[in-house]
Amino acid sequence: MEMTNLTALSLAEEIRKKNITPTEAVHAFFEKARQSRLNCYTSLDLESALADAKEVEIRLQNGEKLSPLAGVPVAIKDNICEKGKVTSAGSRMLKDFIPPYDATVITKVKNAGMIPLGKTNMDEFAMGWSTETSAYGVTKNPWDMTRVAGGSSGGSAAAVAAGESVLALGSDTGGSIRQPCAFCGVTGLKATYGAVSRYGLIAFASSLDTIGTVGRDAADCAALFDIIRGADDKDLTTLSVPESQPLTDLNGVKIAVLGDCTKQAKELVNLGAVCEEIALPELRYAVSAYYIIACAEASSNLARYDGVKYGYRNRDAEALDEMYVLSRSEGFGTEVKKRIMLGNFVLSAGYFDDYYRKALRVKRILCDAFAKVFERYDMILSPVTEGAAYQIGAAPENLFLSDWYTAAVNLAGLPALALPCGFDSEGLPLGVQLIGKPFREKVLLSAGKIYQSATDYHTKRPKVNDEL
Ligand code: GLN
Repeated sequence: MEMTNLTALSLAEEIRKKNITPTEAVHAFFEKARQSRLNCYTSLDLESALADAKEVEIRLQNGEKLSPLAGVPVAIKDNICEKGKVTSAGSRMLKDFIPPYDATVITKVKNAGMIPLGKTNMDEFAMGWSTETSAYGVTKNPWDMTRVAGGSSGGSAAAVAAGESVLALGSDTGGSIRQPCAFCGVTGLKATYGAVSRYGLIAFASSLDTIGTVGRDAADCAALFDIIRGADDKDLTTLSVPESQPLTDLNGVKIAVLGDCTKQAKELVNLGAVCEEIALPELRYAVSAYYIIACAEASSNLARYDGVKYGYRNRDAEALDEMYVLSRSEGFGTEVKKRIMLGNFVLSAGYFDDYYRKALRVKRILCDAFAKVFERYDMILSPVTEGAAYQIGAAPENLFLSDWYTAAVNLAGLPALALPCGFDSEGLPLGVQLIGKPFREKVLLSAGKIYQSATDYHTKRPKVNDEL
């Protein structure tokens, strides 16, 4: 099998057996990315990846005990800071921003012997559904290049699906790992809020932002999650929680089924799980509450881009006020500006109670509703989003509602695993998610592994890239 089609764990195994060197792996993925027309990456740095590969080779030769993913390349969403490499968050505002430090997750993947390959495309400041709001243009779906790859972590999902990387880091504030994974037919873990350090993640909505993994299967995601998880002094919202125990089978595991996923529920029942349909009427308020809270926090987080300290600056302005206004007007795209305005509105005196405070109440109600479900069930099965990837430039009306099943999970801070679960009549991948109790990622990932040992949706690879 071609090296770029292996799973990360099998690639690591080949590296351990010395059948493949990390340098060869870097070259293989690089070559694929270089020839690609998908636009998965905002930047690629062969020199630095090769230097990292050499270093890992030396560490391996010295018999240093690295991780199960040592020598394996990993693509990094472009809102995760990497020292010395442009980290733009898909925005013109940060097109020249070179962080002077590594995010904690970068330090961790490097210590584990993994090799950052390049930065992946994303919606501007992670606000969107398709990477269409990126200052670098849209990422195309490897299954059908006329369609979007999803968003905001569209570059990460498309890169893993197309063999331009074997694993990737993404971020999920309201569905941004799970939805592109569903659209590209790969597996994605959104971790519990507080399970992975956000230090070095360019903030969108701090109370909802999470870093997670994109991989070809649940086993690869589990291996990468093991590396990046854990409490961090640099992010005081992280918690150190004893690891949950993985499941060895699904016998008697109680799964609540939310929304239309009868086929997947049947597959889980065949594996021994007990599936029962439930209703969660509180869900209908989730999207509204999510956008109020996310925009409120974004308006505050993005206030720092004023052209003074870093980021884009208009050079022609003659007065300070004019410089602020022109820098922000020219540096931000339309979606971001819309959200800053909405956020300022819901936080303004007179509207704060009607919108922001009410949204916080909804968040609490949702948390309680989920907790109640988890008194009776081990996990929840639900769609990721309605339908498969849409055509570039033809977003469905009322896109916001497509976050119905994903945004609620971020409001409640829960972990969720998106799994490929089939194909539509046009051969486009579809995804389903398992939502878990807080900090029970291992439970979800092991359930995912068991599901994937009985199904083959995750093993299918798109052909498009090969035809280029
Ligand atoms: N669709 C969501 C939004 O635009 C996705 C956000 C995310 O998870 N980063 O807010």
